[in-house]
Amino acid sequence: MFDNLSDKLDKALHVLKGHGSITEVNVAETLKEVRRALLDADVNFKTAKEFTNTVKEKALGQNVLTTLQPGQLMVKLVKDELTELMGGETAGINLSGSPTVILMSGLQGSGKTTFSGKLANYLKTKKTKKPLLVACDIYRPAAINQLHVVGDQIGVEVYSEPENKNPVQIAQNAIAHAKQNGFNVVIVDTAGRLAIDEAMMTEIANVHKAINPQETLFVVDAMTGQDAVNTAKTFNERLNFDGVVLTKLDGDTRGGAAISIKSVVDKPIKFIGTGEKMDAIDVFHPARMADRILG
Ligand code: GDP
Repeated sequence: MFDNLSDKLDKALHVLKGHGSITEVNVAETLKEVRRALLDADVNFKTAKEFTNTVKEKALGQNVLTTLQPGQLMVKLVKDELTELMGGETAGINLSGSPTVILMSGLQGSGKTTFSGKLANYLKTKKTKKPLLVACDIYRPAAINQLHVVGDQIGVEVYSEPENKNPVQIAQNAIAHAKQNGFNVVIVDTAGRLAIDEAMMTEIANVHKAINPQETLFVVDAMTGQDAVNTAKTFNERLNFDGVVLTKLDGDTRGGAAISIKSVVDKPIKFIGTGEKMDAIDVFHPARMADRILG
């Protein structure tokens, strides 16, 4: 999908570059193409419209039409604006607190458990931290096992209480365990459902309230397009999360999710997942993503 969007933008901007003299009509036509490309990549309508309007205003404000290389200036404007739309700068993760508590949220299948492992591995190797993984899914024993498998793989301890059906208690006990045993980061993996459901939201909201995490991360599958935006909105209303993790960007992903989520919930995308392996994690770089989108 990225290639697709990139190709389309390329074509649209190429039209502009090809013109000897550029008129306001050309700019409008090109931006219409840009808008269409963004919509095709699942950027929501309002965001795409605002985006092209902003670029248009800036283009006319900077007298793009009278410059020597209007096409190139337009490409730069589009890229800069796209970068800005995705947050501009790279957003860091709050590692204060002793221990730092990080709560993972998101739907089942979004990649929460995999990402919990990746983040533990990342913090351990890059930031020399001692993380503890916590299994708070009380419904699926398979989910607890999965986290244990991940923990074994990266050499990180996993805290679980398979007989306990109270996720708030498990999370609190895990934090006490971390304090007693010198872990300085606690990553709490929670239960997800296939779709938003009130019981799930109440449960995670209760865990959130009880453990008061430094970072609440919302994990979302980048391939889910507009649904990703709606899910993000609902989770944000309940948890007021601190950042987004966009997974599965190695697949046939829709770049639109990155753009829309940021503009709809106004929370930074902090990390991306680029594969199933434990090292397939990257800090999110808005400018790099804009480059990738634009080709
Ligand atoms: P959870 O239900 O939210 O905990 O999701 P899981 O961590 O179990 O992930 C669901 C599936 O997506 C698994 O098969 C993972 O291997 C896969 N997965 C997770 N993250 C990525 C990613 O960044 N890229 C790819 N290709 N697959 C991923």
